[in-house]
Order: sequence, then structure tokens, then C-alpha cells
Amino acid sequence: MDTLYSEKNRVLRRSVRSFCEREIMPIAKDIDQEARFPWEVVEKMGKLGYFGIQVPKKLSGAGMDSVNYTIVIEEISRVCAGLGLCVTVHNSMAIYPIMGFGTGEQKQKWVPSLARGEKIGAFCLTEPNAGSDATAIEATAIRNGDHYVVNANKVFVTNGGVADICIIFVRTDPDAGRKGTSVIVAERGTPGFVVGDIEDLSGMRSNPVSSIRLYDCKVPVENLLGREGSGLKIGLQALDVGRIGIGAQAVGIAQAALEEAVKYANQRRQFGVPIAKHQAIQMMIADMATQVDSARLMVTRAAYLKDHGKPFTKATAMAKLHAGEVSSQVADMAVQIHGGYGYSKSYPVERYYRDARVTRIYEGTAEIHRMVIAREVLNEYK
Ligand SMILES: Cc1cc2nc3c(=O)[nH]c(=O)nc-3n(C[C@H](O)[C@H](O)[C@H](O)COP(=O)(O)OP(=O)(O)OC[C@H]3O[C@@H](n4cnc5c(N)ncnc54)[C@H](O)[C@@H]3O)c2cc1C
Repeated sequence: MDTLYSEKNRVLRRSVRSFCEREIMPIAKDIDQEARFPWEVVEKMGKLGYFGIQVPKKLSGAGMDSVNYTIVIEEISRVCAGLGLCVTVHNSMAIYPIMGFGTGEQKQKWVPSLARGEKIGAFCLTEPNAGSDATAIEATAIRNGDHYVVNANKVFVTNGGVADICIIFVRTDPDAGRKGTSVIVAERGTPGFVVGDIEDLSGMRSNPVSSIRLYDCKVPVENLLGREGSGLKIGLQALDVGRIGIGAQAVGIAQAALEEAVKYANQRRQFGVPIAKHQAIQMMIADMATQVDSARLMVTRAAYLKDHGKPFTKATAMAKLHAGEVSSQVADMAVQIHGGYGYSKSYPVERYYRDARVTRIYEGTAEIHRMVIAREVLNEYK
């Protein structure tokens, strides 16, 4: 792993790891069990630039590249995947669309407070009848003079319970099919903006994933991102970028599971020796380490391609697909190495097992990723 990164990358990793182990690790188990969003840590993370990782310094960000972004997300997720989710969605799915498609005024208005972590961002695409099929959204924004009247029912919104600035996918022209989809930015506190119940999730429990509903909510026309009709383009580009972060999150969970498994295998004795002496356990450790390395390499390659202005859709989809599967497999083997104790909340691998599972579902399921990869490969070799 070390030969892949520059000295600057390594320094960043050490500094993020040290912060996460000092500030987040001691509370990670509790915030999972209590399903509590840890504001006290989030404020500190804001001061360190984790909420504006790739935002230019002139807009209050940390001005880092994508490779460094993957390092920050991996390290946070190694300790607490729910916070890793918060940070990656905030950076990639809330800030990125504004940076990529917003006007100068829109960037000035929303990005600095998001980048400092004073405001939290969310990405609201999924609806009860629109999951994998984003073209099926039913939310509407009907223009009326200087504002849109927005009605929307968005579900599974990461950061939903605490979000101030929401990227909302709507239909501005309900008759125009895919071309009628647009993105508006809605702010918490606007009359008609309602936060629904927090989901009682299996994993990622420190993240307040919730529904967000807008009832005849008046949103100024200057909150439209890009042009009317450009919503799907914005969404697909944000997902391309966001998947790098989810891949990094999956690597972080897998890395944590590997470390815990090795620690336990060296401590636990059966048949008179540490279980690490049994070849069956060694085979699992070898597979886990190989899987983690392969996933990290693929995620880093996707980030590298993005940093160098090269096409990265296929590499990102492959990285997210592989890292998600690796994360589940490695967490599963870590539970197996712990035996019965791995199935108990006394050991963190039980949490990693639950957290890993969703990385194969959100920001595009594994099946949808295979469709994206197949499309790219079929085009490439035709
Ligand atoms: C913890 C969590 C956080 C989330 N955060 C956000 C968020 O911040 N913003 C947001 O907008 N959404 C978010 N989501 C929603 C997530 O992106 C969706 O759950 C995901 O896209 C899948 O949609 P769905 O759940 O409706 O499943 P469906 O689309 O109904 O899929 C069900 C099954 O059918 C398969 N399937 C569907 N279509 C096809 C096809 N054409 N070919 C083959 N198989 C297919 C799927 O792969 C899956 O296995 C979050 C979800 C979770 C669980």
C-alpha cells in the first residue's frame, strides 16, 4: 500500500488516522447502538476541512485532490462507517453538484458554510417508486413567477435528519420524460420543508438517514442548479464521483475488519495454540488482505483518473462494485474468525458486518453497477 502513495498522502493518512482514533473510536460503538449523530465530533471535523475536502481554499475548503479524498474517507470509515457516509455524501453528492453545475453566486451562497461543516448537505433522489430507476421520480417543481412550487417525497436521505442544504431531483416538465428532470436546492427552514422519521437501519446507525418531504414549498428560481432538464446529467455525474467515496468507505470497513481479525487470531487459543497458527485461519487472513489491497488499488485508480481529467466512469463503477463485495466478504470472514464472539456486539466485527452490507446497495446497487460496466465494456470492444 505504501509504495502507491506520495509522502504527502502518507502524512495526511497518519493525521486523519490519529484524529479518528483519538476522537471517534472511543464513541463509535455507542453512537451505533444509540443511533446518535455525534455533533461534538462533526464540529471538530469541520475545522479540519473534512467537510470541504476538494473545495478550493478560496471557498473555505481544504483544496485536496480525489486521491487524498479517498484517504480521508477510508480512514474515517475504518473507525466509523456512519460518519464516513456523512462526509462522503456531503462532499460528493451535495457539494459536488453545486461546484460542478452552480453559478458563481450559487457557489458563494452555499459552498463556504458547507465546506466548513457549519451546514450539512444531502442528496435527495430516491423516492418510494424511484430507486434504481431514477427516471421514475414523481417530485414536481412547477414554476410560478419568481419561484417554483415544489412537492416531493424523498426517502433514504443520508444526513436527512440534520441536513440544511438539500439537492432535490424534481420534474419541472412532467410531460417531457427524462428531459423534464431538474435539480433544485432546497434549504431546511423553508415553509413546507419537513424532515420525516429517522430510519431504524441495520448498519450506518450513527447517520440520521430519513425521508424529506416538501409540501407546496416555495423555492426561489435562483435555486435551480444548471438548466431546466439537466437533472439526470447532474445526477449521473454526481453518482460517478460519489461512488469513488463509497468505494473508499467500503475499503475502510474492510481494513478495520482485517485488523480486528488478525488481532483476535493472535489472542484466541484453541487446541493449545493461537488460532492464527491454524492454516484454515491463515488462508482466510491471506484472502482478506489480498481483497483489501485489490479494492484499495481500484478505488485509488478511479480517483487518480478523475484527478488527471481522464474518463473514469468504468473505473469508478468497477471500484465501487468490487470494494462493496470485498467489504462484505472480508467482514464476513472477520466474523468467522471470531467464532461465536463475532456474532456478539462485544466485538466490533459485528458492526462492520452490518455496515459493509449496504455498500452493495446505495449509490447504485451491485446489479446496476454491472449494467454500467457491461455497457462501457461492450462499447469499448465493439
Ligand atoms: C442507508 C442508505 C442510505 C441511502 N442514502 C441515499 C441518499 O442519500 N440519497 C438518495 O437519493 N438515495 C439514498 N439511498 C437509496 C439507495 O440509493 C437505493 O436504495 C438504491 O439506489 C436502490 O434502490 P431501491 O432501494 O429502491 O431498490 P430497487 O431499485 O427497487 O431494487 C431492488 C432490487 O432489484 C434490482 N434491480 C432493479 N432494477 C434492476 C435492473 N434493471 N436489472 C437488474 N436488477 C435490477 C436491484 O439491484 C435490487 O437488487 C440510500 C439507501 C440506504 C439503504
